Formats: sequence, structure tokens, C-alpha cells
Amino acid sequence: LQDKIGNIVKKIDSCGIKFVRLQFVDIHGTPKNMAVPLAKPEDIEDILKEGLLFDGSSIEGFVDINESDLIIKPDPDTFSTLPWRPEEKGVCRFICDIYWPDMTPFEGDPRYILKKALAKAEEKGYEFNVGPEPEFFIVGEDESGNIVPHDEGIYFDVEPVDQGTDVRRELVLGLEELNFDVEVSHHEVGPGQHEIDFKFDDALKTADAVITFKQATKAIVDNMGYMVTFMPKPFFGVNGSGMHCHQSLFKDGKNAFYDPNGKDELSQEARYFIGGLLKHSKALSAIVAPTVNSYKRLVPGYEAPCYIAYGLKNRSTLVRIPASRGNGTRVEFRCPDPSCNPYLAFAALLEAGMDGIENKIDPGEATELDVFELDAEGLAKHGIDVLPSSLWEAYHALEDDEIVKASLGDHVYEQFMALKRAEWDDYRIQVFPYELDRYLEI
Ligand code: GLN
Ligand code: MG
Ligand code: MG
Ligand code: MG
Repeated sequence: LQDKIGNIVKKIDSCGIKFVRLQFVDIHGTPKNMAVPLAKPEDIEDILKEGLLFDGSSIEGFVDINESDLIIKPDPDTFSTLPWRPEEKGVCRFICDIYWPDMTPFEGDPRYILKKALAKAEEKGYEFNVGPEPEFFIVGEDESGNIVPHDEGIYFDVEPVDQGTDVRRELVLGLEELNFDVEVSHHEVGPGQHEIDFKFDDALKTADAVITFKQATKAIVDNMGYMVTFMPKPFFGVNGSGMHCHQSLFKDGKNAFYDPNGKDELSQEARYFIGGLLKHSKALSAIVAPTVNSYKRLVPGYEAPCYIAYGLKNRSTLVRIPASRGNGTRVEFRCPDPSCNPYLAFAALLEAGMDGIENKIDPGEATELDVFELDAEGLAKHGIDVLPSSLWEAYHALEDDEIVKASLGDHVYEQFMALKRAEWDDYRIQVFPYELDRYLEI
């Protein structure tokens, strides 16, 4: 640690950094932070060693007001400067872990929930990797003040139809300054919709990266005069925004999902992991697609899954196995969207997959059918079940799934359920323009 601290002090000194932001997320995955001004670079030492006391009572999903003291302590490996802040008297940030004042981990900290799941898998020799594909819309306001997509582009368009080239350029350059290994950026299927993919990494680094990605994207796009939204389905009738999660387990430095002699060159572990994901997918939905709006994305016809099946090259299924093999062998889970808390999502996905491995859950045969084409009879004939069609169904599935529940721990589970019930109750009493159009003259 002393070496790391030394290097950080040097960097703070050489970059002329004045403020250090201590960052974490609440139960929704919303980034939260406080900024500490540094009188001199060495002031960071005590913060790194001991952390700071703060009041956790107003953070959603954290603690009650009568036991509100918590410690926030930076993870020294997460140091980075913030490229959208001024260069002179600049700003750096750390992603932090949260502890009780006696330095036991705070079980309401989403980052701790993921660390706990990763440690459990590590005991069995597994390292869990995730590569996310976050999608988002860039939007503006029309003359009447309606929120509209900023361009008319479609999948892979070029300028001038694609009006997002400059924005994506700034984003990619900013992300690279934040140490992202960006693989590709492109216009997505929907008008105003874009995607930027970065390289997979272990799940903790990836969850940190998802938070940083969303935060940086919003900050940079905001500075350019647009707004970015990660809501899953901002516009009726066009594709929504997903965050497909590509997952693999490594054992002894090798991809445990790859077996050159297995069927489709997949290992038995890969099959069982898929079995676990499919078995728990209804409950997982509540965590990986956690908003009322998420379920407006998970409908037939928009490249987002709604039926519980897996396929190889099949993009109509919930789980897909991309063609690459060797160390690139992976399982793509397609129902997550970028409104999820990535720490909780990755913890739950891992526990579901591990349950598959431990209890040898057979996923059955891959389907090559376009499952969107199936009607109720077709689904029944092929034994294909459906994902929850609302947040209400999803959180009820979570209530019934001991494995996925346990992945959150008691504290987060109780808080999460209370918040989701309230979110649903708030939504279900609303009356929308659609209902007036449809029922006014009944
Ligand atoms: N937008 C789609 C979804 O909601 C994915 C489309 C794609 O990546 N080809 O999942
Ligand atoms: Mg993609
Ligand atoms: Mg995409
Ligand atoms: Mg994908």
C-alpha cells in the first residue's frame, strides 16, 4: 500500500490536482461523491489509509438516521483524473468502499455485495469476467419542449445522417483518458441511439467502469449542449437501450467455458452456467432490468429478449453464445439494461450461473428458432417460458428465488424490495395520455 500511496502522491503533485472526489453508488447504482480539497499532495495519505467518516442516512438503501455514521475509504487502484473538469487545480477521483466505524464492511454497499460474490467464486478457483454493451440515446428538445432524439440515424450510419460522430469522438477520447480500452463505437438502430463498447475485465473493474462510463458520458455530452439518457425505452416504437452482459469464468488463467472437444466447443461448466442463468432469469430481471420502464424494452420485435431460451448465433433469445472460441468464449445475457446497478447485477448473474454449475442445471438444447415469431402455442410446444412483463412480475419472481435473493444479502434485499414496491405503486396509479386516447369514448 505504501508504494501505491507514494505513486498517487506523485501523480497528484505532477498533475497539479487540487480536489479529490470520493465516490460510491447508492442502491440504484447512482454515483454519489464528496470532494476533499487538498492543501498539499501528501494530504491524500491519511484519506487512503484511514478513510473519512460521513453521514450515510440520506443515501438510498443505506442506513437509518439513528445509526448514520459510516466510513468511506478509497480503493487506491481506482485513481483517475476527471478529463471533463478544469486542468488547472484539477480533480481526481477514487471509487470507495464503505465500512461501519469499526471497519467491518457495510453490507448495504453494492460494491461489497459484488466483492462477496466474487470471493465465493474465487474459493472454487473461478474468476468472473464481464464485458458490457451499454447503449444510450442522445436527446434534445423540439420547439414544443418535447424530448426528441438528436438525429435520424440508424444502425452503423455515417455522417451527415449520423449526427453523433463528434459526440462519440469526444466520448472515446475522454474515456481513454480515464484508462478505458474502448473497442468500438457506433450509431445504434434507434434514431439518436449510440453504443460504445469497452474491453471485458474482471467483474469488479467492469462494474466500476460502467459507473464511470455513465458518469463521464453524461458529463461530456452535457458540456456539448446535448443530453444523454440511459433509460431503457425512451421512445415507443423504436429499439430501447440494453446493456448486454458478456460473461465468462476463468480458472488457472484459462477460459473455463472453452472446451475444444465439447459440443459447439463449449465446456460442461458453460452449459451449466447457462442453465443457471435461464433457471433464475425471472428473478434476475428484477435486478438487471430494475425499472418500470425496463419492461417496455423487453417486448417482441426490438432485438431485446422476452422469452427464456438460449441460442448460438440467435439474437432473438435471452442468452446467446457469440461465435468466438478460445479465451473469447463467453455467454451473452441480453435482458440487462443500463438502468441497473452493475454491482448488484453482476453479483446476481454470477450467483445464478454458479448455482447452475453446482447443481448441474442442464439448459437443454440451443434453439435456432426466431422465438419472436412464436405464438403462445409455439412457445408451449417448444417448452419456452416468458420473462416477466412488468416490474411487478419481476419483483414477485425475486421474492420466490432464494438464490438470487441471497446474492443481494438481507440488507440490500429488504431495501431493494421496499423501493421497488413503492416504485410500482407510484406508477400503477398514474393515468397516461394513451389511456385517454383509448378509453375516453368508451
Ligand atoms: N437495442 C437492443 C436491446 O435493447 C440491442 C440491439 C443490438 O445491439 N443489436 O437489447
Ligand atoms: Mg453491440
Ligand atoms: Mg447494440
Ligand atoms: Mg450484444
